[in-house]
Formats: sequence, structure tokens, C-alpha cells
Amino acid sequence: MVVPYVDAHCHVTTSMKADHNEFSTLPETPSVQCVMSNNSYDWQRVKTLPRQDTNTKIGFGVHPWYSHLYYLGEKDNKPAKEPHYNSVLQGPNAEELGHIISRLPEPINLHEYIRTEFSATNCDCIGEIGLDKLFRLPENGFYQGDDRAPLSRVKVSMNHQAQVFTEMCNLAAANSLPVSIHCVKSPNLVFELSKQHLLPHPGVNLCLHSFTGSVETLTDSWLKTFPKERFFLSLSSYINFKNDDTAAKLLQTLPKHCILTETDFTWDTADAKHIIHELDLILSRVATQHNLKSSDEAKKLVCDNFQRFMPKSFRL
Ligand SMILES: [Zn+2]
Repeated sequence: MVVPYVDAHCHVTTSMKADHNEFSTLPETPSVQCVMSNNSYDWQRVKTLPRQDTNTKIGFGVHPWYSHLYYLGEKDNKPAKEPHYNSVLQGPNAEELGHIISRLPEPINLHEYIRTEFSATNCDCIGEIGLDKLFRLPENGFYQGDDRAPLSRVKVSMNHQAQVFTEMCNLAAANSLPVSIHCVKSPNLVFELSKQHLLPHPGVNLCLHSFTGSVETLTDSWLKTFPKERFFLSLSSYINFKNDDTAAKLLQTLPKHCILTETDFTWDTADAKHIIHELDLILSRVATQHNLKSSDEAKKLVCDNFQRFMPKSFRL
């Protein structure tokens, strides 16, 4: 049997337009991929992806870059649009804030979104979720793959991001689903919230995608606290292999059974050759660092790891 490539974390384009590119699969190259959703726009596409071949897995999530589009609490207490965005966004002045708010849609109730769209049987993973201390909103209100706008100075408060992240962690815990986590410049908070809301649930595996934290955070926090069988890092070439030394250090620290590979690409716009090239690059580095005989052996390792990451989806 040919061992498939694993793309443990990829996407489709977030778009407001009705017409879009087809989701591609790799021609003549077996692969398994987990397509994340970030918001209610891409979810409309992700949830319809053909999964009967079982090679396409899907994630249900609210990415921190879109967390402002949701409000917490009950539907009956729906806040008006302006007060909601004013309470979760932080900008340098009222004018810049007002400008963005005028372009944003009516906020969505997070509980209602989960109730109507999520089901544990139609979903393999909770993701993409997480925290991001650096990002700023584009001037059109939220990031859209096919409608780029310059970045503003407006941010989503960490408090709101943390609340949305917590809700999604609880959803994972309630359904014993694995999570795929985005963490930029907020290592302590992501770790603390994961420890509090995910660690106590043995059925929840956790993957930090395109990990940008320090090796110390990895060893002193994550690897010390989470059982290695439940902890994964999905490595991307554009984040984790930008710098050879950092990549080598990371791979030396990370037990080989915790390694997954990812592109983080939008598969509806990415070129198949490019996807394979990225995954091959990571596999060859994993093989070298872990003294495996070949890239194929690394591929087998990653494939086994991926099946352990989402055991329900592979009926192990
Ligand atoms: Zn992603």
C-alpha cells in the first residue's frame, strides 16, 4: 500500500462571493488532509467537501482573526451591532474603529452557530481555533482571501479571543474531538487555557499548528504537562523551516511520535505540485533529524501519528 501524504492543517478560501474554485485533490498522489474552518463563510464550503473517500477530514472552528464576528451569551440578549464591536475591538481612535464597524456584518451568536452548524458526526476536529496577539484587522473588517485590504490598527481584545477559544475548547471536550490550535505571541494564555479546558479530558488530542513559540515553552510547558500521546505539532515549511537552526532545534526537541506535517494552504487555490513540494521538504528534514532511513519512513511515521491524532475518524 502506498503511504499517503498528510496535510494535517489546510484551508479553503474565505470568500463572500458565491462562485469559487473547486477544492483540488492531488492527482495520482494519495493524501489525507484536514481542512479547517475559520468562520461561517468558509464553513459553508468546508462542510460540503466530499468525505466519502475518508481522505478529507474537516475541522469546525472560529479562528482568532474572525472571533470578533461572534458574540457570547444567549441569543435572546443579542447586542446591537455597534456596542458589540465596540466592546470586542480596540483601535487607536473612534474614527478608525467606526470605519471598520460600518463595514462589518451583524454579529453571530456563537452558541447558536454551534447548535445549528456543528455535529460531532459530521466533523473530525475542532479547528482552527486559538489566540493571536499580533494580528490587526484589514480595513474591510475581516480577512478575505479574494478581497484584500490594507491593514488597519484595530485589534480584537485578548479577552474576547480567550472567551471564544474557551468555548471552542469546551466543544472539543464535550465531543472528545482533537483540536488544531493557532498561537501567535500568546504562549502563556494558550497554554493555561488548554491546561484548564483540554487537559482534563483524556479523549481530546491537541495539535499546535505552525508552532512559533520557543523550544523552552515546548519543553517546560507543553511536553512536561500534556501526555506525549495526546500532543502534536504540525510543522509547516514556511513557518517552521524558514530558519535551518531553529528547525533543527525544534525537531531535536520534539519526540517523533508528536510530529505532523501541514501546508496551511488554501487547497482551492494552491497548486498540487507546490503542496507536495512543501510536504516533501518537511519529511526529508524529519527523516534527517530523527535518523530515519528515508523520507518514506518519515511519511509512514507522520501517517501513523495523524491516525492517532484523530482516532475516531480512522476507526482505530
Ligand atoms: Zn491555518
